[in-house]
Amino acid sequence: MYDLIIIGGGPAGATLARLLKGMKVALIDKKLHSAQSGAISSFQKPCGGLLSPDAQHALANIGLHLPASVLVKPQPSSVKTIDLNSGLVRHYPRNYINMDRHKFDMWLLSLVPETVTCFAGRCTKIEQDNGEYVLTLIAPEEPRQLRAKYIVGADGAYSIVRRTIMPYKSRIKKYTAIQQWFLRDASEPSDYIAAFDNSLTDSYAWGLDKDEHFIFGAALPAKNAKHDFEALKEKMCAYGYSFSKLVKTECCQVLTPLHFSDTFSGNGNAFLIGEAGGFISPSSLEGISYALNTAAILAKVLMTEPEPNRLAAYKKNLLGLRLKLMLKQLKMPFMYNKQLRRLVMKSGVTAVK
Ligand SMILES: Cc1cc2nc3c(=O)[nH]c(=O)nc-3n(C[C@H](O)[C@H](O)[C@H](O)COP(=O)(O)OP(=O)(O)OC[C@H]3O[C@@H](n4cnc5c(N)ncnc54)[C@H](O)[C@@H]3O)c2cc1C
Repeated sequence: MYDLIIIGGGPAGATLARLLKGMKVALIDKKLHSAQSGAISSFQKPCGGLLSPDAQHALANIGLHLPASVLVKPQPSSVKTIDLNSGLVRHYPRNYINMDRHKFDMWLLSLVPETVTCFAGRCTKIEQDNGEYVLTLIAPEEPRQLRAKYIVGADGAYSIVRRTIMPYKSRIKKYTAIQQWFLRDASEPSDYIAAFDNSLTDSYAWGLDKDEHFIFGAALPAKNAKHDFEALKEKMCAYGYSFSKLVKTECCQVLTPLHFSDTFSGNGNAFLIGEAGGFISPSSLEGISYALNTAAILAKVLMTEPEPNRLAAYKKNLLGLRLKLMLKQLKMPFMYNKQLRRLVMKSGVTAVK
């Protein structure tokens, strides 16, 4: 029996577990087992692994300094934007930190205090019994059940917590994200790329080097995602990129909140943080800052607000982030409408040579 169980140990869950004080807390994550045993993890979050200025700010806010061990080469200073519809190419300055996303997650988990009990395994069921939550966990040793008064869904885009507690069916827009890792060929251009093609996706594709690898990914409508990803790669070949030495393919869901109701704070004694709550930028798909910020907000609410006001207080404190997400949409027509994008790129405004 715990006061609170966090489901998911990504940036959101690990941060909440680190910040919460004064409660008996457990954290469940499906990737802990293999990481703890030293084996190659069966689950690694597919991600571009770029820390945006907002995420760097969020890290500073929670008092963390990024260790050098999570950084990879190169550190990009601009993004090469390729419009595959018009053929226009522009470079825009960017201050992102390029890192190894799995190492970043493992570093955040290593900061979780020993007072938090960590369980390796996958939460497969959430039920309510006598005002408590009963979680079923498929663990490496044996299935087990855990009970808690509060639960927190920090389990990402395909959150079992959100799907269980939400009183209505979420209509949030979803894409299938496919990302491939290739051995880098030194003769190829070393760019951080963002590519747009409205005939294949109304989101975008990205590519960048990670030490000896080149990663290329895209967010695509689920229908025909695999086929459209191959078509994108083929079009990129005309710009000097080759995709011959494939190392691995990753795939997952990614969310795009377009309406206020697409973000959800929780229900009853269950809270949602990070992408589980729909907190991710709809324009850039940047989600790490939202994961860290929502976790910090919830930690503060749980430690300062008396019962039974906690959910209402959390919802109120999320207002700023929710407005910020809605404002991100103002940028979207200039990125995703092909006529407007062409005009902006043609004008060269804010571009560097
Ligand atoms: C392809 C791709 C590229 C991206 N690139 C970037 C980028 O460059 N920069 C950026 O800021 N954002 C990026 N994002 C978004 C970002 O990855 C997410 O928004 C961010 O990881 C959300 O953090 P989180 O902690 O909320 O969830 P997650 O990072 O998804 O963590 C969820 C955790 O829950 C665990 N889990 C899930 N289900 C269960 C379960 N049933 N039981 C137990 N454990 C469970 C998982 O093991 C995982 O550790 C990208 C997303 C995608 C899909």
